[in-house]
Amino acid sequence: MTDSIREIRLGLAAGEFSSVEITQDYLNKINLHNPTLNCFITITDELALEQAKAADESIARGEIKTLTGVPIAHKDIYCTDGIKTSCASKMLDNFIAPYDATVIEHFKRDGAVILGKTNMDEFAMGSSNENSYYGSVANPWDLGRVPGGSSGGSASAVAAGLAPAATGTDTGGSIRQPAALCGITGIKPTYGRVSRYGMIAFGSSLDQGGPLAHSAEDCALLLQTMAGFDPRDSTSIDQSVPDYSVDLAQDIEGIKIGLPREYFAEGLDADIANVIASAVDEFRRLGAEIVDITLPNTKLSIPVYYVVAPAECSSNLSRFDGVRFGYRCDNPTDLEDLYKRSRGEGFGDEVIRRIMIGTYALSAGYYDAYYLKAQQLRRLIKEDYEKAFERVDMILCPTTPEVAFKQGEKTDDPVSMYLQDIYTISLNLAGLPGMSIPAGFSQGLPVGLQLIGNYFEESRLLNVAHRFQQATDWHLQSPEMK
Ligand code: GLN
Repeated sequence: MTDSIREIRLGLAAGEFSSVEITQDYLNKINLHNPTLNCFITITDELALEQAKAADESIARGEIKTLTGVPIAHKDIYCTDGIKTSCASKMLDNFIAPYDATVIEHFKRDGAVILGKTNMDEFAMGSSNENSYYGSVANPWDLGRVPGGSSGGSASAVAAGLAPAATGTDTGGSIRQPAALCGITGIKPTYGRVSRYGMIAFGSSLDQGGPLAHSAEDCALLLQTMAGFDPRDSTSIDQSVPDYSVDLAQDIEGIKIGLPREYFAEGLDADIANVIASAVDEFRRLGAEIVDITLPNTKLSIPVYYVVAPAECSSNLSRFDGVRFGYRCDNPTDLEDLYKRSRGEGFGDEVIRRIMIGTYALSAGYYDAYYLKAQQLRRLIKEDYEKAFERVDMILCPTTPEVAFKQGEKTDDPVSMYLQDIYTISLNLAGLPGMSIPAGFSQGLPVGLQLIGNYFEESRLLNVAHRFQQATDWHLQSPEMK
């Protein structure tokens, strides 16, 4: 069987295999490897087979939509009607969503089959998937290492062949960083491109959903399903969605690609720098013109993010109060005790840390000094990109400063963990689209390359990534699963 969505579609249409067969095949792999990888929180086997059967019937009638019969896994941050939606938190361990997120509705509309809900960092806060109430996720390239986060379960599942593709969300790097660490392809679209309705909120001005798969070609198909205006999301952009697959193979001769000097400075692993340099040579051979650029405010992105994201999360997570839904402590003595203990017992350490930072930054007297200041600096970061895009069509850099690190290595050092997102976080602050594609290996572990596009240039990003993938085979490498 193949893990390429394009090939799965062709195989289904030609009757080479049925959706039930391919779905069963993935469920078997999940049952075999999930005990070691821990990428799924919920496996929806019965529903998957039911949906696959219905898909086979549609195919027999000649009714084939973009993803009819294609099995997909969803990050457990997307509300799924009638299915547990935990956000990897004890707080929502008992929560069965009463409706579908828009993204999930779109996958249903286009005929996809749901394999299950993937593990993640609690409320999407983390870079290693070690902050999950359900335990950490293993990287299939080395089981002692992290898969990245927060969409670590999705990335690990796709890399290990337990699903051909999965959804993720990205607030500061959570699609691109795990894609890089697991050797797969992932795209974070422009803010507003994919509806956030029913996607449990972390940092509302930063969160954006997107797909993780093996290739840019597959990501194009998946983004087609995910994207689009949604009146239920007030920040959704009312702009038509282009056909992401048409321009994939377009020539990239003459494209101007900028290398930001600040992204190749101190802190970048030497092996990663070499891998990226070889990839840059490949782009030159494909006809790209490489230009040196500068994004001088890069160093502000981590401090700005760690004011803005916690501030927004402290507000978003105030709804988990033990009253309306989710965890409630036993035998509260009064209302205040109910709030305090439900939240204290229901949230994990990292979530509590963020809520405390955010509440502090938003409190009277500190708002101007922290939150307002951070928003002003955010504008400078955005302006850096605007200036850069006057000179170049696209920006290229590493996705992460290091390859997958060992489990437990950074859990006691939040700042070193936060630094993992140094190359990804500024895009969320600016609202720009970016993607990570496999570009090589260092010590047997995958290295990711990041491409950053201007607003709404997902088609161009996918095109450039696809041309690279036609010329290389890094995205076709997969870990040996025993
Ligand atoms: N690692 C970053 C954080 O912990 C980003 C997470 C994300 O993109 N959801 O906040």
